[in-house]
Amino acid sequence: MKIIIIGAGPGGYETAAEAAAKGIEVVLISEGPLGGTCLNEGCIPTKALCTMDAPDQERKRAVIEQLAGGISQLLRNKLITLVQGRARLCGGTAAEVDGVRYDGDALIIATGSVSASLPIPGAEQAIDSAAMLDLKEVPARLCVIGGGVIGLEFASIYRKFGSEVTVLEFCPNVLPRFDVDLAKRLKASLAKRGVTIETAARVTAIEGHKVLWSKGEKEFETEADVILMAVGRRPNLKSLNLDEAGIEYTPRGIVVNENMQTNVPGVYAIGDIIGGMMLAHVASAHGRRALNHICGDTDGIDFGVVPAAVFTVPEAACVGKTEEECAGMEIITGKANYRANGKAVASGEADGWCKVIADKASGRILGAHILGAHASDIIHEAAVLISLGATVRQARDIIHAHPTLSEVLAAAIAACKAN
Ligand code: NAD
Repeated sequence: MKIIIIGAGPGGYETAAEAAAKGIEVVLISEGPLGGTCLNEGCIPTKALCTMDAPDQERKRAVIEQLAGGISQLLRNKLITLVQGRARLCGGTAAEVDGVRYDGDALIIATGSVSASLPIPGAEQAIDSAAMLDLKEVPARLCVIGGGVIGLEFASIYRKFGSEVTVLEFCPNVLPRFDVDLAKRLKASLAKRGVTIETAARVTAIEGHKVLWSKGEKEFETEADVILMAVGRRPNLKSLNLDEAGIEYTPRGIVVNENMQTNVPGVYAIGDIIGGMMLAHVASAHGRRALNHICGDTDGIDFGVVPAAVFTVPEAACVGKTEEECAGMEIITGKANYRANGKAVASGEADGWCKVIADKASGRILGAHILGAHASDIIHEAAVLISLGATVRQARDIIHAHPTLSEVLAAAIAACKAN
């Protein structure tokens, strides 16, 4: 069997490696460098920046190079052929690069997403997250348009570097798809650290160094040396000749079913290109699902239980349902504060909070939301509990080591009671 994979981000390259491990021949085509957005201009360089006191391009490049080396190693397999260049779909399960045609038994599209912008005058004066990662100097004033994941991560990082930061968010809360309780607390935490956050703010234009925006009837302007546009990402639909190949898509992404199959037999799409949760780990899981389907295997991957983390200071992380998504259901919730946790206080990381949501009748845990140090690690215990259908009673019986930050989650579970 032979599979053509277009795109070498986490969705594409991990699926290629997994396919080869199953004895499948793979042609992996990529226009950009191995690792895609995640490694080259997304998750990894952002996390490198999080650990710095000022932008250090040399260290950023070293981190990317080291990890790119790891991916090259992973793909060093005689069953995998790497092709550098832009792919054109030839119809069915074939693709072409620079006049060379590659035929497969299946084809997986994993071409990712690109930064979105606003249709406002002067929008071209703002920079996107990739350009933000290339800054060598710390701007005295940074204005961030969009209080989503990217906007808040850069706000947090550049505030730490010393910039005066203003975030302008269109919705009534930052992180609009997150639990409102969590979003409000994160907003307050960032404000305490000196980040100015304006919600319900409509940006109307950029004029030189000025961002013009309104709130209700009132009009405002914010002056900044750097303006970051962080209003979301959109699927990279234009880089492929989808119409010619007869592949169904909407502006939100390529249309797929639960097995990642498009409307064209043998053609699959995974990751950001299908819209939805644009997360590296979701793309990888999509790839595993597609590969399993191609091989006639089944899996138990639950796309309703996806941990997500925001690398602000403090970190935010969540999994499962938000309280808003439970509207109309009878639920119980439990909350705990980091300041009551021995390790958090001892290590000077007492700013934080955790909430667990469970179904009232069955006691099954439905969601967990954490704001605080190492939230991005602790959240996985909740992911396991939710995936396995654990109840509050069962989870309460699990012994947690002391003193650890994971006791915050245990304390929230223990506190679960009717609202
Ligand atoms: P996002 O969807 O998280 O946030 C965009 C924000 O911009 C939203 O809050 C939205 O309300 C706001 N917005 C939209 N129009 C606006 C306007 N006219 N004025 C002001 N605000 C406006 O998108 P993002 O932060 O750009 O991130 C893109 C994708 O990348 C997301 O899917 C995100 O999950 C992913 N990502 C994930 C991580 C992570 O997991 N840590 C990090 C970075 C990016």
